[in-house]
Amino acid sequence: MLGNRRLISILGLSKGGTNHLAQCVHACQDVVGLTESASRLMHPTRDDHRQILTPEAVQAGVLKPTKPFGQVGIVSVNKINYTLVAYPEAWAQFLANDDNSSTVVLLRNPMMVHRSRTRYVNTTKPQRTAWLNAHKLAREILELLAMTWRLPNAVIAFHEHGLTDHYRDLLVNRLGLDPSAAVQPDRCQTCGTALDQRRRSRDDPSAWLFCPTCERFIEGEGSYNYLRKEDDLNAYRAQEADARSDDLIKILRDAVGDTPTDLFLDGAHWSNDGPDALRTALDGDADRWRSVPLNEILYPY
Ligand SMILES: [Zn+2]
Repeated sequence: MLGNRRLISILGLSKGGTNHLAQCVHACQDVVGLTESASRLMHPTRDDHRQILTPEAVQAGVLKPTKPFGQVGIVSVNKINYTLVAYPEAWAQFLANDDNSSTVVLLRNPMMVHRSRTRYVNTTKPQRTAWLNAHKLAREILELLAMTWRLPNAVIAFHEHGLTDHYRDLLVNRLGLDPSAAVQPDRCQTCGTALDQRRRSRDDPSAWLFCPTCERFIEGEGSYNYLRKEDDLNAYRAQEADARSDDLIKILRDAVGDTPTDLFLDGAHWSNDGPDALRTALDGDADRWRSVPLNEILYPY
């Protein structure tokens, strides 16, 4: 399935911004990205016999706009820390030892992850009450940081920092990808009609791709808006200030320690130095991460 192709693995939290990054990676030249569902069914191996998905299922799991899976040189998978066919530990071992893999750990201000999950439960899926549990979120962050510590070569990225530089530095300089020919859908994949742009609701000022024949909006995975622009940072920062929660901060401090928690409180996730500062913090507290089994959080439902 993977053959000898280069693998780019994105690790991150649900509501942590990974679908946005996955779409940006998928849009690059010579990359084919898999949806989260297909990614989580991939086995951490280059041996085809151990894969569960058929080639047809993998092709069906390619992000939109689709590309021929077998003909592209780089494969990207998303959120394999929530793997369904192996323990996350197995992925960590595979990524640490596979010379043709690049790993990106995507982090986001935990307050914003919690805010986004809470909103999702309140507006879309009331049965997903696990997403309201701050202790569970802290446990997920603990495991993700432990996995990061085990992968010294992983590239650390912050969702918020990506909002300001549109991931250009990450894609070009850290991953060696070519985003210049990035494509977005221009025709409906169902009926072939040229797509329009229109607003989706009164509350949302952004334009979305729309098929006038099928009368439906065209979106990427995780409600990704192909026309998304990162020009409203003031609104994001206002939400961030609003999302600050002393209860969550205490729970985080207990779970992952003071230094990683303070990085977010001090705004390092917006800065160029954030990734290095986090790596230094992880290396400075090795005993904590070494003792974390990566098996308690599988998929957070
Ligand atoms: Zn259509």
